[in-house]
Amino acid sequence: MKILVLNAGSSSQKSCLYDLKENTLPADPPEPLWEAQIDWTHQDGCAKLKVKTFQDQVLQETCPSDSKLADTLKMLQTLWSGTTQAIENSQEIDIVGHRVVHGGEIYRESTWITAEVKTAIANLAAFAPVHNPANLEGIEAIENILGNNIPQVAVFDTAFHAHLPPAVYTYPGPYEWLSQGIRRYGFHGISHQYCAQRAAQLLDRDLNALKLITCHLGNGCSLAAIRDGRSIDTTMGFTPLEGLMMGSRSGSVDPGILIHLLRHSDYTADQLDRVLNHRSGLLGISGLSNDLRQIMVAMEQGNDRAKLAFDMFVHRLRAQIGAMLSSLGGLDGLVFTAGIGENSAAVRAATCEGFEFLGLSLDLSQNNALPIDRDIAHLDSKVRVLVIHTQEDWAIAQECHKMASRS
Ligand code: ADP
Repeated sequence: MKILVLNAGSSSQKSCLYDLKENTLPADPPEPLWEAQIDWTHQDGCAKLKVKTFQDQVLQETCPSDSKLADTLKMLQTLWSGTTQAIENSQEIDIVGHRVVHGGEIYRESTWITAEVKTAIANLAAFAPVHNPANLEGIEAIENILGNNIPQVAVFDTAFHAHLPPAVYTYPGPYEWLSQGIRRYGFHGISHQYCAQRAAQLLDRDLNALKLITCHLGNGCSLAAIRDGRSIDTTMGFTPLEGLMMGSRSGSVDPGILIHLLRHSDYTADQLDRVLNHRSGLLGISGLSNDLRQIMVAMEQGNDRAKLAFDMFVHRLRAQIGAMLSSLGGLDGLVFTAGIGENSAAVRAATCEGFEFLGLSLDLSQNNALPIDRDIAHLDSKVRVLVIHTQEDWAIAQECHKMASRS
C-alpha cells in the first residue's frame, strides 16, 4: 500500500511516500521511499525544492514559483519521473494523508476527506487563519493533480486532545465563550500521541497503564499530560500561542498586559499578533534569534540576555511540567521530542534537575550521547526519561493504513 503524506503549510510544504504491507505495520518507523520539501520563504519569488529518495539521492532545485499548485505538481512529478522514480506512475498511490491543524470540536479522530469535511476545514479557518487554509490548499492540489477519486484522509493536530475534561478545556471567562467555540483545543496532537505510543513501546509497557508527560519542544512548544493513552491536559489552548515560552512566541502572559498595550501604546490587533507570535519568546528576550543553538553560543560568550532567555525557557517549562504533574497525579515517564527536545542536552538536564524530588534521576552520560528513541534515566530512577524522535509523517501514514484496513 503506497501512502503519500502531505504536510502543507503557508510557507513550506513537506511530503513523503511510504510503501507498507496491506495487513501489518512495522514495529519501528520505516524510512520513507521518497521525501520532498518545497520552501516558499525565499525573497526572490522562487520556490526551493528538495527531494530525497531512500537510496539517499538528493536533488535540489530553485525555480521561479508560478503558483503553489504548479510547484506541488513539480514536486510530485519527481516521484515518478526524472532521477528518483520512486514509483512508476501516479496511479500507484493508494491513499493521501494530510496533516490538518484545526479540527475544532467536530473531528475527534482522523476522517476521510469529503466535500463536507473540506467545508468544515474551511470554516475552522476562523480559529486557525494561517494553517487551515494552507492545509485545504494542499488537499485541493492533490485532487487537481491525482484526480477526485483518490482517497484522502485528514489527520488533525487537535484530535488527540478531544477528550480533555470540561474543567480543563473551559476558560474562566463568561460561560457564553463555550458556545462561541472559545475553549482550549490543544495542538501538536499528532506528535504527542506518536511519542506516547512510542514511549510505551520502548519501555515495553501498556500505554493504558502509564502516566506520561510529553514535551514537544520545537519552534512551537507544548506539553501533554497523558493517562490511559489519552491527553488529559495540555499547555496550548484556543490557539498555539498559549503555554510555554517558544522560539518567537511568548506563550502565556498576563492578559492585562495586552489591555495595557491596547490602551496606552496604540497597538492594533495585527501589531499585537505580530509581537506575540513573531517578536517574543527566545527571540524577543535575547534580541538575537529564535534558534536555541544561537542562544547557547551567545550564552557561552557571556551574553546576559541570552542567559536570561535560556533560564526563562527552562523555568516556564518546569512550571508547566509541574502543572501537568498535578493533573496526572504521578509520573511514569517524561518524554522530550522535536528540535530542542531531541537535541538539547542542556535543556533536558536543566529541566530534569527540577524534578529530582520525585526520584527522577537522569543519566548524564546518556543524556549527552545523542540519545534518540532511548531511555536516558538511571536504572534506579523512579521516573523514566525518554528522548523520542517525533515522526508526525509516519503517524499520519499509520492513521491512513488503519482507516484503509477498517473500510
Ligand atoms: P518546528 O517546530 O518548526 O518543526 P523543529 O522541531 O525542527 O521545529 O525545532 C526547531 C528548533 O530546534 C530550532 O529552532 C532550534 O531552536 C532547535 N534545535 C535544533 N537543533 C538543535 C541543537 N542541536 N541544539 C539546540 N537546539 C536545537
